[in-house]
Amino acid sequence: MSRAPAPRTPLPQLPQLHLGRWLLLLALLALAAALPLEGQPPRRRPQGAPSNHSRILIIGAGAAGYAAAARLMENNVFDLTVLEAEPRIGGRVNTVRFAENIVDLGAEWVHGEVGNVVYEMAGPLELLEHQGRISKSAAQYVWSGGALADQDDVDMLFNLTEEIRDTHTDSWGSQLANYTGSYGEWFLEQFTQRLLTLERRPPAELVDRFLGWFEKYTGFYDGSDTWFNTSGRGLTQYKECEGDLAMVWKRNGYRSVFDLLTKRYPHPDQELPVRRRVLLNSEVSAIRWADRVYGSQRLGAGEDVLDTVENNDVHHSTQQHNEVTETADAADPYTATEDATEAGAVTETATQAAAEEAPQSDQGRTANPPVVVELSNGGRHTADIVLVTVSLGVLKHSADALFDPQLPARKMNAVRNLGFGQVNKLFMYFSEPWWPSGLSGYSVLVTGEDLEEFKRKYPQYGAQGHWVHGLSGFYIDQHKPNVVLMDWIVGEPARVMEAYSDYQIMMGCKKWLDMFLGHNYSIPLPVGFTRSKWWSNPHFRGSYSYRSLDSDRADAWAAHLAEPILDMQGEPAVLFAGEATHDHYYSTVHGAIESGWREADRILKSQGRYRTPYAEERNRQR
Ligand SMILES: Cc1cc2nc3c(=O)[nH]c(=O)nc-3n(C[C@H](O)[C@H](O)[C@H](O)COP(=O)(O)OP(=O)(O)OC[C@H]3O[C@@H](n4cnc5c(N)ncnc54)[C@H](O)[C@@H]3O)c2cc1C
Repeated sequence: MSRAPAPRTPLPQLPQLHLGRWLLLLALLALAAALPLEGQPPRRRPQGAPSNHSRILIIGAGAAGYAAAARLMENNVFDLTVLEAEPRIGGRVNTVRFAENIVDLGAEWVHGEVGNVVYEMAGPLELLEHQGRISKSAAQYVWSGGALADQDDVDMLFNLTEEIRDTHTDSWGSQLANYTGSYGEWFLEQFTQRLLTLERRPPAELVDRFLGWFEKYTGFYDGSDTWFNTSGRGLTQYKECEGDLAMVWKRNGYRSVFDLLTKRYPHPDQELPVRRRVLLNSEVSAIRWADRVYGSQRLGAGEDVLDTVENNDVHHSTQQHNEVTETADAADPYTATEDATEAGAVTETATQAAAEEAPQSDQGRTANPPVVVELSNGGRHTADIVLVTVSLGVLKHSADALFDPQLPARKMNAVRNLGFGQVNKLFMYFSEPWWPSGLSGYSVLVTGEDLEEFKRKYPQYGAQGHWVHGLSGFYIDQHKPNVVLMDWIVGEPARVMEAYSDYQIMMGCKKWLDMFLGHNYSIPLPVGFTRSKWWSNPHFRGSYSYRSLDSDRADAWAAHLAEPILDMQGEPAVLFAGEATHDHYYSTVHGAIESGWREADRILKSQGRYRTPYAEERNRQR
């Protein structure tokens, strides 16, 4: 809300009209009622009325967008609105209830400790626990019909794969960094060389099927349809944080990170009011940025603004544009609820006090007309700075239609050629465990005959679509004892399975389980089933980014995706954040958060208000 003194507005001269005096009086009264009286604050918008200009518009309330909003507010910038297409916040962090458990349909693990901002927030508060990777010794490898693979053979093969994987970060990493082929080719070369040195080798069929399984397992890391499309050297751009690579949240799942970002946890009274600035169900359909960037000095066709704009001084105006919408409570901002499904519903439940108490100033308004953002529900917003955090999948699918004019050529090259993967998760819930206690799961060793048989027997469960080909096994979540089996499904099968109903996929999984383990156990029907559908959701179009051979060929980099579009004075106009814009922590939540902070800092620096006294004070209170 504006905290500037009310402007002294002189009553305008009325034109000489041939009206009766009473009519003139009425008109004067109406006009006076509409204008602020001297010394009184300007009228506020009625609660719930939409405000359509913000200093900053953030598109997307996922980890990147939320982190950016929190960072800005922490530094005293409250004049912002977050437009979110979904009826919930969180984006690819989506923690849902599943029977008496909660499960994460998107991000689940905190990957590493050193340099991982999520760990830095959650670790000291003891919110995380160690889980460990799928353990080679605990998971069993099973053929259809129930025969278990010899564990020594499997251990031998798994050891080879671990040796090769572990070389990514040491001297072998530099070898991979110079490799021009796919990761699949490189891996198989390494694997074969090492296999040939073994005195005793596992049977060829086991090696073959194990590698089939291992490719899927590797696919969870990048989501690529095949590791023959994953760039070998591109993989070395990703940096692992040292420490445990698979920590899980003790309670409440990954959604907890949003409470940490806004300081709601552990101090609810110090919460940064991000949630109240989020407009749910607000799908952006167009971002018109030409006037904001070029102003009256339009460029000739084909000129790239990134090459043209210089870092000149900015013209600052003191005009205030601080109104935000205030609305009804929403019970749970993370979950799509009926309360929060109305277009434009703001998710805030807390008081308005924090934002109103915060000192407001509005240095940094630009001289140019604003960026215009249109919504598919007919809404229209304007802003001086727009921060786009939608996924690379959304950009690939709709950047052409979304941006007017089109994005600069180098950015579009990155949009088209950086890889964006497909990973989905499936969860089955059983009333009681039917597997031995302590087991971490079964990895399935699938043959072509298995697939043909399944296809023949179960067309009613979408078997023609071959989606079961993507299943790698069934893994028991030790943190949800007794009940939950889960699997990841990657690439083409992950996309295909989204077209079938939950019932078809659940029954297909059950039949697949029967095929491999039905001889060993009496497996009951699951009593619950849930899954993600990241591909068909138009607000995601997949899971996370990776480096493909196309990225190498086209010289496409995350840094190109991250490049800001500046105006003629060199000030931020349209900015980009999101996991795919991070050059080494891409595909993760910690990467997404860092990217949001990066862009928030860019805005703050451009306004010269990085680390205001107010922010310092808040930090001291923490
Ligand atoms: C299955 C799966 C498992 C994963 N596992 C892990 C893991 O274990 N650990 C880990 O660190 N990471 C994991 N990730 C990756 C992690 O979830 C993402 O990297 C991160 O959440 C991305 O955050 P973001 O803010 O960049 O994008 P998003 O979360 O996608 O946020 C973008 C937001 O923009 C909104 N949006 C899209 N289009 C529009 C529009 N037109 N108008 C308005 N809003 C729009 C979307 O609804 C979304 O809320 C996983 C992801 C998936 C899918």
